[in-house]
Amino acid sequence: MEKIKLVVATGNTHKLKEIAEIFTQFEVISQKQAGFAGDVEETGKTFLENALIKARAASFALGCIALADDSGLCVNALDGAPGVFSARYAGEHGNDQQNRALLLKNLQGKKDRSAYFQCAVALVFPDGTELCAEGKTHGEILTKEVGDGGFGYDPVFQSADLQKSFGVATAQEKNSVSHRFRALTNLLATLEKSGKSL
Ligand code: IMP
Repeated sequence: MEKIKLVVATGNTHKLKEIAEIFTQFEVISQKQAGFAGDVEETGKTFLENALIKARAASFALGCIALADDSGLCVNALDGAPGVFSARYAGEHGNDQQNRALLLKNLQGKKDRSAYFQCAVALVFPDGTELCAEGKTHGEILTKEVGDGGFGYDPVFQSADLQKSFGVATAQEKNSVSHRFRALTNLLATLEKSGKSL
């Protein structure tokens, strides 16, 4: 049977890959593949606001159901930073290496290294229906990078669930406990309750 196509409003190939690995029941395609460049400014103050901004823009432009993820790392000793600024913490958007280096620098000498990844997902329908969900995963920021797997802050995040760095975890391991997996699982439950279908 042919899988239902699901457009994801992201230009981040790592996120797209993880969403496809988690949502194996759908044919996950990027907004670019669907014909929308998706250059929208993420002006929201929360992950959820940003996920909605991206999903609404893609759904409106393409006239189809669109899913967006907005996510980031929140570090308790830094009052929740980098938070919604995770992708551009060191200034330049998407420079993962520089973002990690700045985070390690800003945590030097701090005793509390507890942190969590947060993910908000929004599913927007052409009729205006909006379904949202969130997920978190907890851990600690390591004092140096461990492993080079994953993306973003993965090599400096020691997962409490896995008892290892996301940088050395397999994709399957990370996907079984990740903030993205938890948000998407919650979204499926919300979708089921809503009576809507994809
Ligand atoms: P967004 O594209 O605005 O949602 O930014 C997400 C940013 O948060 C990414 O660029 C990463 O720096 C960070 N991030 C989000 N999810 C993850 C993850 O699963 N692992 C590592 N870093 C992540």
